[in-house]
Amino acid sequence: PRVSQPSVKIPVALTIAGSDSGGGAGVQADLRTFAFHCVHGTSALTCITAQNTLSVTRVDALPPESVIAQIDAVVNDIGADAIKTGMLLNAEIMAVVAERLQSYHCDRLVVDPVMVSRTGVCLIDDEAIATLRDRLIPQATVLTPNRYEAQILAKQEIHTLDDMKAAAETIFKLGSQAVLIKGGGMRGKLCGVDVWFDGETLEVLRTETVGTHHTHGTGCTISAAMTANLALKQSPLEATKQAKIYLTQALHHALAIGEGQGPVGHYF
Ligand code: PLP
Repeated sequence: PRVSQPSVKIPVALTIAGSDSGGGAGVQADLRTFAFHCVHGTSALTCITAQNTLSVTRVDALPPESVIAQIDAVVNDIGADAIKTGMLLNAEIMAVVAERLQSYHCDRLVVDPVMVSRTGVCLIDDEAIATLRDRLIPQATVLTPNRYEAQILAKQEIHTLDDMKAAAETIFKLGSQAVLIKGGGMRGKLCGVDVWFDGETLEVLRTETVGTHHTHGTGCTISAAMTANLALKQSPLEATKQAKIYLTQALHHALAIGEGQGPVGHYF
């Protein structure tokens, strides 16, 4: 009997990030976001978190050799139209990831510089911040710091829209092709206002504010949606604008699961 072999050409995106056992952020959010965009997702895990909607109870880093092996395995065979990095956890992992990305000459790379949670808690040490700044950020197509990460990278306080604009211009000098400072964690009128700077265009991107406290995974989701859109060959600014629309929908469909802060939803 003849076997029919359906074959589908599909863009591929790779996420290099941590596992969130609660399924709300990290690699789990990235793969759901890629799937929603009809982009095939591959992954290289950097660390494993034990967490739920209430707290993170444990974080285990994977050996850097394991991270490299995962990246090599998927990129050498399947390829990657776009790549994102999320939580890289420590300087050792960052250094090997930066080295590998450099050797692949990845030209569609979203770097989510996961350093500080949206609530302001620092997640990585000074050596890791320096490695991120010096070795990974210069390779990024778009860098997506939240307010606190932007404060560290720009070495300034951020309270107003003018502060966000000034920080975007300072951070741009670290070498990424574009910077998106996310205002999701800002209070009042600036919540949901992001600032884009690519060396020429300084744009304030606004969306409605969605009133939900189930916002876990927002940072991962927007950078993953940007990566999916880059894999679909959108320009970086268009990819970012479309990703913002996706995140707004995901916030509207946030999940009231668990007893604490639920994640944004990808089921709509
Ligand atoms: N990556 C992992 C593995 C995480 O556990 C978290 C937060 O818990 C994040 C990234 C950042 O999450 P968010 O998208 O809420 O900024």
